[in-house]
Amino acid sequence: MEDWGPLKIIPGENNSRFPYCTSLLLEGNGRQALIDPGAGNILKNLSVQEIYLTHYHYDHVWGINFFPKTTAVFINAEDLPALSDLREFARRLGTGHYFGKDYPNWWAQEIKKGFKSPSLSPYNRPDIVTVIEKTKEAYPTSEEIKIVGIKTIFLKAPGHTPGYVFPYFPDLGIIYTGDYDLTSFGPFYMAPDGDIDQFIRSSKILREVDVKYYITGHEKGMVEKKNFLPGLNRFLEIIALREEKIKTLWQKGYTIEEIADNSIFYPLKFQKIDPWVRMWEIIGIKMHLKRLGLLPKAS
Ligand SMILES: [Zn+2]
Repeated sequence: MEDWGPLKIIPGENNSRFPYCTSLLLEGNGRQALIDPGAGNILKNLSVQEIYLTHYHYDHVWGINFFPKTTAVFINAEDLPALSDLREFARRLGTGHYFGKDYPNWWAQEIKKGFKSPSLSPYNRPDIVTVIEKTKEAYPTSEEIKIVGIKTIFLKAPGHTPGYVFPYFPDLGIIYTGDYDLTSFGPFYMAPDGDIDQFIRSSKILREVDVKYYITGHEKGMVEKKNFLPGLNRFLEIIALREEKIKTLWQKGYTIEEIADNSIFYPLKFQKIDPWVRMWEIIGIKMHLKRLGLLPKAS
């Protein structure tokens, strides 16, 4: 655990790679609050009174299960519905659109028992059921609030999810960048509630915000400004590289399925094991084709 005054960085297991993420612990006024409880078993030893979620994705929320019902849980208003109903969770990730409109209902029943396949995406993560059962409330965004006495602003950054936020601590000169994580995988926007252009636009917040340190949600953790900004450029360049690759294969006459077999986003072996991984691969390719004007917007 790295200590930055009232803020502690809790690196996740396995270098904070999915399904883990780096969590933040805030301490003040004799209370403790956690941001994005995805670090893993280490969180079991904490007793926090409040939990704040940057968005609804599984790797940033599943650790809610370590804490009693009395722990207050907050998320942004746009992502709240996705974490209040299993069907809506599945719908927002693309399953209704991709597998047919009855699929979210079916999955919401089946996930309670789990599936036989290995757990990669939330497709086969039955602990999401109890995460969704917990009561949550919306926190205000774009205005100063106090979390256990620490000045915090949840800066709205749509694109990764519609309600995605960067928690910014002006007095500490720190911002939590979450899934703007500078990893070689690149940006995730492949669910239908993601948006490539918004994702790029929201990165401007990270360039302009007055901070010394950035904390990523996966792998790197704490990064100084002089390293973060060039890393951010490289991270966003991955979007253009993916698009170029898709365009080339499309112009060679490849079908969408054949482009997906070339692993634009995910290794083919993961696409074969997990139907949701294949789904995001296909949805992502279609998003880029629409952006290129090569597929009609409503397809
Ligand atoms: Zn995410």
